Parts: sequence; C-alpha cells; structure tokens
Amino acid sequence: MSGNLPFFRYHPDPVASGSIRAAVETCACCKRNTGWIYTATFYTAHEVDGRFCPWCIADGSAAERFAGEFNDSYGLDGVSEDVLHEVTRRTPGIHAWQDPHWLTHCQDAAAFVGEVGYTELAAHPEALDQLRADLRIGGWHDESQLEHFLTHLGAGATAMLFRCTVCGAHLAYADAS
Ligand SMILES: [Zn+2]
Ligand SMILES: [Zn+2]
Repeated sequence: MSGNLPFFRYHPDPVASGSIRAAVETCACCKRNTGWIYTATFYTAHEVDGRFCPWCIADGSAAERFAGEFNDSYGLDGVSEDVLHEVTRRTPGIHAWQDPHWLTHCQDAAAFVGEVGYTELAAHPEALDQLRADLRIGGWHDESQLEHFLTHLGAGATAMLFRCTVCGAHLAYADAS
C-alpha cells in the first residue's frame, strides 16, 4: 500500500501515474531503501548514481543536493515563486512522450491526475472543451480531423489530465507519441 508515502499537492497519486513504483532499491540521495523509488524525469547537470525515494523528493533534498529539477518550469506562468519551486523541485515528474509541462488554473499550479484516453477525458467535459479549444488555436482547423483525434485519444496520443487545486476544474493537454 502507498498510504505511507509523502503527500504531493501537485501530483497526489504518483503511484497510479507510474512515477513512483514499489521497488527494493537504494535511494541515490539518502541511501535508504524505503521500498519506493521514483522513475520519471530529473533534470540535472550532475552525475546521479541511481534513483530517488519519494521522501527525498518531498523534502527537496534530492533537488538541492544535485541542483536539479523534476519538472520544467515551462507552462508555469503566473504562479508564485513558492508554487514554482514546489512543482519543479519537490513534485514527482510525469512519464510522457513529449517534454512534459505543467498546467495552471486560478493562478495556482494544477494537480496532475494522470495520462488518460478519450473515455476518461470525456468524463470531464470542461477539460475536453478546453483541449479542443487549445488544439484549434494550435492549428487544427479541420473539425472532423480534430474530433477523430480527440475520440481516438488513448491509442497513440493521450491526454495529460490535471485538476485545479483551487476550483476543482479539470484541464488537459495532448501528448503525442
Ligand atoms: Zn531518499
Ligand atoms: Zn481553478
């Protein structure tokens, strides 16, 4: 069970998303074997011999020791510096095909829910509408092609689903393989 893991405000279920997995592995930062290991992105210029436990992510020690970031600040416009640092330095990253980025809502970073297909995305119509609008702005002008792309999310391309930590609205961006 993952009930004893540290809580990540902006990535509340990193086990479900696959970013943290149960593993017998020594953490590259604290050298302990906690039974859990982080498997997603870490950006650093330093050599890191191994992977991190969730606790060294949560308390910022891994990011500090290796002068690295788990998430890029791309997309995190209009949030406070505290929030920016919490996402980049103390929040597990995301497994994605393209460079992952973080979504914001209500001037706060949104919480990453997971990678989803069309059925799960359609359960949150506001996220589907917002993604459709974003894709139109991004250059999808053929409506039937756009709907085909959306309804086939989950096969090849997927949607990265987030939830606003302030108002609860869902939002998403498309990740293509
Ligand atoms: Zn550790
Ligand atoms: Zn909101």
